[in-house]
Amino acid sequence: MERRISVQENAIEAPAAGPIGSSWRDQLRQAVRDPDDLIDLLELPEELRSGARMAAEMFPLVVPQAFLSRIRRGDPDDPLLRQVLPIDAETGPAPAGFSSDPVGEEGASKAAGMLQKYHGRALLIVAGVCAVACRYCFRRDYPYDETPSGLAEWQPALKVIAESPDIEEIILSGGDPLMRSDEWLAELVAQLEAIPHVRRLRIHTRLPIVIPDRVTDGLLTLLSTTRFAPTVVVHANHPAEIDEACGAALLRLVKAGVPVLNQCVLLRGVNDDVSALADLSRALLDVRVMPYYMSQLDPVAGAAHFEVSKERGLEIIAELRKQLPGFGVPRYVQEVIGAAHKVEVQSGCS
Ligand SMILES: *Cc1c(COP(=O)(O)O)cnc(C)c1O
Ligand code: SF4
Repeated sequence: MERRISVQENAIEAPAAGPIGSSWRDQLRQAVRDPDDLIDLLELPEELRSGARMAAEMFPLVVPQAFLSRIRRGDPDDPLLRQVLPIDAETGPAPAGFSSDPVGEEGASKAAGMLQKYHGRALLIVAGVCAVACRYCFRRDYPYDETPSGLAEWQPALKVIAESPDIEEIILSGGDPLMRSDEWLAELVAQLEAIPHVRRLRIHTRLPIVIPDRVTDGLLTLLSTTRFAPTVVVHANHPAEIDEACGAALLRLVKAGVPVLNQCVLLRGVNDDVSALADLSRALLDVRVMPYYMSQLDPVAGAAHFEVSKERGLEIIAELRKQLPGFGVPRYVQEVIGAAHKVEVQSGCS
C-alpha cells in the first residue's frame, strides 16, 4: 500500500533546523521513524524486527523521544510500546467487519477537509500527520492527500460553515491539528471568529501527551484570547503516559482557563484492565483533566488484534464506578455509522 500520509507531510511547515535542542519542532524532527532504530533503542527481541519493518511499510512508524522515554526497555509487552510498535499481526488479511473506512467518514464530507456527522459540530482535518503513529488509529487509511493544506484551500470549508447557521462548534482534528504552527492556527481561528454563529472551538490532539513542549506560550495565548469557548480533548490510554512533563503541560492548559478532557480507546494488552484505567483517571484528575470518552475500537483494517469485547469493556466500567467518583468514569462509547451521536455501549447491544 502507498504511504499516503507522506504527501501531506510536506504541507506542514518543515520543522526549523536549529541549535535549540528542545523545541517541539526539533523533537518532532528527531522522532524515531525507523523500526530497526526502535528495536535497537528499546533492546527488543530480534524476532520482532521483520514484522516491524513489514507493518511500517503500510503505516509508517513515528515515536518522539519524549514518549519513548516512558517505555520500559526490553519489554515487548509494555503498554505504551504496544501502541506504537508495528507488528506482523497488522499485515494479514483483515477479519470480517474490519475495513479502511471503519466509521463511514467518506459519506460525511461537506467540503474538502470538513466532516459533519453530528448536529451543530463540524470537524476540520487541518493536518494529515501526527507526532506519533498509533497502530490502532481509525484514520490509518484516511485519504489525507485530498485535504486542503494552505489557508487559501480552506476557503470552501469556511464558506460552508458561514452558510450553515446551525454549526456552532468547530472541532480541529486530523491527523493532529497541533502539528500546525501557532501562527497558522491563529490565522485559521481568526477566520473562524469572523463567522458570527460559531461559538465554540474544540481541539482534538495527542500532542500534549506525546510532546508536552507543544503546549507553548503561543498556544496558551491563542486559547485564552479567542472569543470562542475553547476545549482541548487530549488522548491518553494508560497512566504511564502521564509523566511529570506531560502532567505539567496539561496543568498549564487548565490554568490558562481551558477545559481539558481526555478520550482513550479500549485496547487489548494496553488498558483492558481495571487498575490501569482507574490509575489513568486518577492521573488525569490530579492535573484537572476530566475523563470524557472511552471508545470501543473502531474496526479499522490492521488493528483487529487490539479488540476487546464489549462484555469485557462493560465489566471494566462497572468496576471503575465502584472505585472512582462519577466524574472520573469515562463514558464508554462506540461510533455507529449513521447514528446521530456517539452511542453509549450497553449490555446486549451489538
Ligand atoms: C466524535 C466526533 C465528533 C464529536 O462528538 P462529541 O460527542 O461531541 O465529542 C464530531 N464530529 C465527528 C465527525 C466525530 O467523529
Ligand atoms: S494521534 Fe490520533 S489521529 Fe494521530 S495516529 Fe494517533 S489516534 Fe490516529
